[in-house]
Amino acid sequence: MPLVTGRSTKESEPAGQARSALVGSLFPRCGNHRCATGWIRLWRSRRIPVFEGQWACSEECLEELVARAVRREMDGRDTPPVPWTHRVPMGLMLVEQGEITSGQLHAALEGQRKEAATGEASRLGEWLLRSGVLSESVLTRALSAQWNCPVFSLEAFEPAEVVAVLPRLLSEAFGALPVRAPGGKHLDVAFAGRVDRSLCYALERMTGLRVFAGIALDSEFRIAQQRLFSVRPVATRHLEAANSWVLVRAMTRWIETVRPEEARLVRLHDYYWLRIWRRGPRRGSLPASATVEDMLATLGTRAGRGPRSAG
Ligand SMILES: [Zn+2]
Repeated sequence: MPLVTGRSTKESEPAGQARSALVGSLFPRCGNHRCATGWIRLWRSRRIPVFEGQWACSEECLEELVARAVRREMDGRDTPPVPWTHRVPMGLMLVEQGEITSGQLHAALEGQRKEAATGEASRLGEWLLRSGVLSESVLTRALSAQWNCPVFSLEAFEPAEVVAVLPRLLSEAFGALPVRAPGGKHLDVAFAGRVDRSLCYALERMTGLRVFAGIALDSEFRIAQQRLFSVRPVATRHLEAANSWVLVRAMTRWIETVRPEEARLVRLHDYYWLRIWRRGPRRGSLPASATVEDMLATLGTRAGRGPRSAG
């Protein structure tokens, strides 16, 4: 079958499809569906840069892909698809399980109320722990029942294996710790006290692995997190963009400069997390620090709204 048909203006449907398949195999199609030039730009690498699995034939087309992804994330489609399960109030659960008496619960709630008046409110579990009513292991078990997830042991934690999974800033801000990815099948993520389902969902989209959340003993969590933070982190650039246009421009420029084999964008609460893979990613394996880089961006001024830098 000739690539260029000159004489015949009529071409059968299958022949037309076969021809576009052949052209597609020779020249990758630009991911921007509004692209006017497509595969014609032969001077450009026909392999990279790739953004969310799609090759862009030019910086303009890449910008269109990034803008589309930013709009998608702004629309709030980063929320987990599963509805929030109702959590049993911690105090009632502890009384029901016989871990505390109703007298101890009332005293704790009263103590909490007084504390709140001074502007230093803590969670009920923390309050009970501090006042010696509960042990850490009982509180952890109660939290795991409340969040309907297992208790993760961090004894065999190997920070070097998971250091590139989640930017340090996000680990710190949301009390989350990637623990392990057994056999590359799924990823265990431990939380200190409060499970963040949005973070699990963001990590699933970023790693391609199913994420299992668990609660860890607070003391074990803090030690493991310190160990994780002592390992050389993924190179991360931070950006406070005045508006979404600045965000799109900065991300496009960066991808265009690095020309990665893959790049992905997810939003986690206030953070737009762009990750690039200089090589890969490889299915079923966790990223290595040397092959990925991150950009963490926020929109508008965020003065005084949580942690800003973590190395
Ligand atoms: Zn294009």
